Amino acid sequence: MIESVNAPRIVPLEHILPDEPLLMMGAGPVPIPQKVAAANSIVINHLGETMNRVIGQVKEMGRYVFQTTSSHVIGVSGPGSAAMEMAVANLVLPGSRVLCICNGYFSRRMAELVRRVRADPVLLEVHDNRGADPEAVERMLQDGRFDAVTLVQGETSNTVCNTRLDRITRIAKRHGCLVIVDAVCTLSTMPLEMDRWDVDAVITGGQKGLSSIPGVSLLAFSETAWQQKIAHREELPFHWCLDARLADQFWNQKSYHYTAPVSGILALHEALRLVCEETLTRRFYRHRLCSEALQAGIEAMGLKLLVEKEHRLNSVVGIMVPQHVSADRVRDHMSRAHKVEISGAFGLNILRIGQMGEQSRAHNLFRTLHALGSSMRAAGEILDMPAGMAELERYLSNGI
Ligand SMILES: *Cc1c(COP(=O)(O)O)cnc(C)c1O
Repeated sequence: MIESVNAPRIVPLEHILPDEPLLMMGAGPVPIPQKVAAANSIVINHLGETMNRVIGQVKEMGRYVFQTTSSHVIGVSGPGSAAMEMAVANLVLPGSRVLCICNGYFSRRMAELVRRVRADPVLLEVHDNRGADPEAVERMLQDGRFDAVTLVQGETSNTVCNTRLDRITRIAKRHGCLVIVDAVCTLSTMPLEMDRWDVDAVITGGQKGLSSIPGVSLLAFSETAWQQKIAHREELPFHWCLDARLADQFWNQKSYHYTAPVSGILALHEALRLVCEETLTRRFYRHRLCSEALQAGIEAMGLKLLVEKEHRLNSVVGIMVPQHVSADRVRDHMSRAHKVEISGAFGLNILRIGQMGEQSRAHNLFRTLHALGSSMRAAGEILDMPAGMAELERYLSNGI
């Protein structure tokens, strides 16, 4: 044959990737444990006895991390946003009214997904980097007929936490609403009790709190939501891939929906197994200790955090960038000189350091805080680095 398009000359990956991988300390993806990486390199048949056992365990472990007894734990081939879209597409009917509590970028995305299924999102904008006030939510719900409420547990974009999530979900239920919670960055890093808090759908991604790979996500529907909105739904959801009833054929009935992302599910299995081995209680403690120690170290160095303690998320720490300092220069210096990568932000002049999964380890904290301090210095900021490092050490050894 005559090739009418010539084979392109391609640079091999080893010449594109850095010789030494960067330590991923940004807002996700996060480093993955060796066991997760090894599982991710395996391909098996997506149907059959081996896969059925794996899926059975993923669901059982999922119920533990979501803290639910629901039989509707489902995986999705796709990003955290696909899990969000699956929750919305199956629970929100065209024409229904949804209160979308917006603290930032990701909670606004949920409103956009509601709009895309031809429903009517009503936004409750929460300003000033604060978590939502349950009373404000109640006032909105009293005002009109709503069918559902959406909110994030942790708003990764500006490092705000909806610390009163449990109050808000109960208020929403009292007003007859289904509640959809985005826990992409927070699941397994801080308490979330799906059944006790009466949440109807919890969404998570792989690459954040769970320390798995991006692209394979997990969500859970409550038994009530399944019965009310999914089991007997007459009008089919717009999205075939995200149709929960079709997904149920694979996740609960050992049959075929689409070819499951087998390697990613094996990786997720290992990530969840490591959560179970550690237990949620110990994992929450590790995350809180590490994040608070990092925050204390950053402040002792002379930098300021964006969010007041009362509304502050621990899973991602937002640091104000001093006026005369360029955030991009700091990040660039951190990557080049220290091989540590952290995140900027969407439109805000902050730097963000993740404290999710493998990021919350003492050795990663020392390396990251040192890299941050020394790169801020290189960008012209005057800091007390020894004070910051000493505070980190003191906090970690004293415990909470
Ligand atoms: C990262 C994130 C998302 C989106 O996840 P993707 O995997 O990028 O689609 C949604 N919500 C929150 C709170 C997040 O942190």
